[in-house]
Amino acid sequence: MFDLIVIGAGPAGSAAAYTAAVSGLDVLLIEKERFPRPKPCGGAISKRALFYMDGDLPASLQENEIYGAKISYKDKSVEVVKEHRIAVLIARDQFDHYLLQKALRAGALIQRDKIHDFFEEDDFVRVYNKQRHQYRAKYLIIAEGAHGKLKYQIRGRESKDRYGFGLVAELKPSGTQTSALPKKIMEFQFGITSRGYGWIFPHKNHHSVGIYGIAREMNGAKSKLQTLCGHSGFSAGCSPKGHVIPLGWPRKKLTGKRTLLCGDAGGFVDTFSGEGIAYAIRSGQIASQKIAAALPQDDATDVTTAYEKDCREEFDDNLKYAFRFAECLRKYPDLLFSIFAGDERMIHDYLDVPAMEATYKQLFYRMLRRAFPQLPGLLRERLRVNTD
Ligand SMILES: Cc1cc2nc3c(=O)[nH]c(=O)nc-3n(C[C@H](O)[C@H](O)[C@H](O)COP(=O)(O)OP(=O)(O)OC[C@H]3O[C@@H](n4cnc5c(N)ncnc54)[C@H](O)[C@@H]3O)c2cc1C
Repeated sequence: MFDLIVIGAGPAGSAAAYTAAVSGLDVLLIEKERFPRPKPCGGAISKRALFYMDGDLPASLQENEIYGAKISYKDKSVEVVKEHRIAVLIARDQFDHYLLQKALRAGALIQRDKIHDFFEEDDFVRVYNKQRHQYRAKYLIIAEGAHGKLKYQIRGRESKDRYGFGLVAELKPSGTQTSALPKKIMEFQFGITSRGYGWIFPHKNHHSVGIYGIAREMNGAKSKLQTLCGHSGFSAGCSPKGHVIPLGWPRKKLTGKRTLLCGDAGGFVDTFSGEGIAYAIRSGQIASQKIAAALPQDDATDVTTAYEKDCREEFDDNLKYAFRFAECLRKYPDLLFSIFAGDERMIHDYLDVPAMEATYKQLFYRMLRRAFPQLPGLLRERLRVNTD
């Protein structure tokens, strides 16, 4: 009987196992893959994620430091560079492996197995693999990511317009670009997918080129990615890897009797940007902190109530307003881009959100204020286009 079983050793699961182990809990981390394992990802670790990790990311894992962004829509683009770094780029297999090793060094145990089922009793939880081998613990954290079906015992499944999809390839620039030093900015191209974008992130030895959008609207994703590659000076013949991405809003049910959902399993992803690693790490930390605090009295209701409350308080504002931004992008892409392109300050402010120096909510209301004077002109333009 363990104090805690964590299913999945991605950023959420490893952060949960680490926090539990340093709090003195007997924790078993169960992971189906052999690490380091590949994972489709842009590899951007925001300042928010670094903050949650206490800045504890070895320099050897940091492939590039990012100071700004170039944002393009149709034939226009704006570039903003900040004085301080806003993110670092990492190789995802190595990053996740590092977090796992850190949890193991802190005292967590790892078991390579795939969990198929779990049952919540009144005072403990049983989890099973396919051969019905059983593991038991007082509490269970499910950090199985966006794939996996265990979470659906806690909350219902979503329809295809309630989750996103990302497709990514690792590419070398063709021609003269090959020898160029990695640039310090990330590129985002809007208009490729509705409620999403294409990205180019300059890693040390390759570029991560990808597209992200709502799953239901991602038909032809591979050819859209190939077009982006071709237009950006990369060879169009790429072999991309895809993965689903939950939408961070509306809020999802996070707890059973003794089970807590963390990371993508809990739906903690910024719908506008697709950023999930920071929220995965933080939700894993909060879950284990709540379990460690309540274990002496073993009051499971305290744990689940406190976890739901803290996640709401820490994440709701950002996840809700990121979703609203994504909705604006889908409905009014021209208006949104004209506000951002017409005022570099807006992009500066947007980059402050993943750096934790501003919130989506502040940015949303600032955007509405700037949109207001432009509305009559935009309406006139729309009417003129419709009557032409
Ligand atoms: C194409 C793409 C690009 C992205 N780029 C970025 C980015 O640049 N920056 C960013 O912040 N976010 C990005 N994200 C989102 C980010 O990858 C996720 O939010 C993050 O991985 C969530 O971490 P997690 O620990 O919840 O889940 P995961 O990282 O998915 O880890 C889940 C783990 O659970 C294991 N597992 C699953 N089921 C079982 C089981 N039954 N038994 C045992 N083990 C199991 C899996 O093998 C896996 O190791 C991207 C996503 C996609 C799809």
